[in-house]
Amino acid sequence: TDAHLSAIEAARVLNAFVLETPDQARSMAREADARIAKGDVGPLAGIPLGIKDLFATKGVRTTACSKILGNFVPTYESTVTSQLWRDGAVMLGKLNNDEFAMGSANETSCFGPVGNPWRRDGSNTTLVPGGSSGGSASAVAALLCMGATATDTGGSIRQPAAFTATVGIKPTYGRCSRWGIVAFASSLDQAGPIARSVRDSAMLLRSMAGHDPKDTTSVDIPVPDYEAAIGKSVKGMKIGIPKEYRLDGMPAEIEKLWSEGAAWLKAAGAELVEVSLPHTKYALPAYYIVAPAEASSNLARYDGVRYGLREQAKNIIELYENTRAEGFGAEVRRRVMIGTYVLSAGYYDAYYLRAQKVRTLIKKDFEDCFAKGVNAILTPATPSAAFGIGEKSGEDADPVEMYLNDIFTVTVNMAGLPGIAVPAGKDTQGLPLGLQLIGRPFEEETLFSLGEVIE
Ligand code: GLN
Repeated sequence: TDAHLSAIEAARVLNAFVLETPDQARSMAREADARIAKGDVGPLAGIPLGIKDLFATKGVRTTACSKILGNFVPTYESTVTSQLWRDGAVMLGKLNNDEFAMGSANETSCFGPVGNPWRRDGSNTTLVPGGSSGGSASAVAALLCMGATATDTGGSIRQPAAFTATVGIKPTYGRCSRWGIVAFASSLDQAGPIARSVRDSAMLLRSMAGHDPKDTTSVDIPVPDYEAAIGKSVKGMKIGIPKEYRLDGMPAEIEKLWSEGAAWLKAAGAELVEVSLPHTKYALPAYYIVAPAEASSNLARYDGVRYGLREQAKNIIELYENTRAEGFGAEVRRRVMIGTYVLSAGYYDAYYLRAQKVRTLIKKDFEDCFAKGVNAILTPATPSAAFGIGEKSGEDADPVEMYLNDIFTVTVNMAGLPGIAVPAGKDTQGLPLGLQLIGRPFEEETLFSLGEVIE
């Protein structure tokens, strides 16, 4: 714990942590020591972790990296983090993320952007770590913590993992409790770990997962010993290669990495088959209707009355307007406006309802594929490596450029499936690239077994 606290201090330039909690960390570490001395060794005894600032931590400021929650100190602990503490883990502090987890570069945070510890060969340009869990990915990659919590609504665990050569798994929807996690789009949000290796991510997920009566969408089925899946033979497994993920203009190095990954799995005894997921091209547009719709509804609670920031006003309407105008950043306001529009009377059928129908078709594509005996699907994790801070943001930037980062990851959230991003190679400039494996519902173990082969 002390070594990690010093590393955090030395790497403040990355802006990965938005709050350091050294006193709490040391006292939790001492408590872990005391438990170990008594022979009560939890599976994560003394393991120092960073916590994305989207997870409510009792008595510790939790902001979702939004000004509107700037002074919010929860009186309760999220289920996922309380399970980590139950198993002996230590909290080092709270990690930066895109405001309300909306973004793919960690540039929308009210605490400013996060730096990626990776650089292009021979260049000093600071790159983004991806988003929205950019602080989690950067901190793990820079060895500031042994693992981190993260959340993934459309790719926010897997894309930053791919940008930083870390491992990120988004479990099946319902595997982890969402209780105490600041809501973005409730039907898509899932918690998961970002870690240094596939094995570490298996150990962390085992603690984070499990049924919780406080989240009615969490599923009451046993959590397997994920670590036992590491090193298990993948012989005879059928791996689908979806032809629709072969995008025009995709960099040759990503294409190459994808074939290499397939070859590694084949060498380990898996069988490769080409599959079709015909509705893939509609996933991103449908996601950018469903996610903002749910966000506009979830964010209605930030009214200047119940939480955080409150601006001066003459009446209640002005209170809402002033607080929300001052408290929300540009991307969040854009999402609230899109969401309110697509849910409004007269447009609901044309946009929201249609997007939900498309979502059903996307889910069915995967079901058809799994019904043919496919155990998992292999795709690139992202369409590019990390890019420079400011390269895809700013006043004149087209937000769709940023949204395209999630082209390979959003389908998985739309279908509620588990997906893992594993570091697999580097681009011509020495930047990490990741591959994604998508599994059947609640078969995260398959992803750990296959992921370890690629790693
Ligand atoms: N980048 C996507 C978005 O902005 C996904 C974010 C996420 O997974 N939280 O919505």
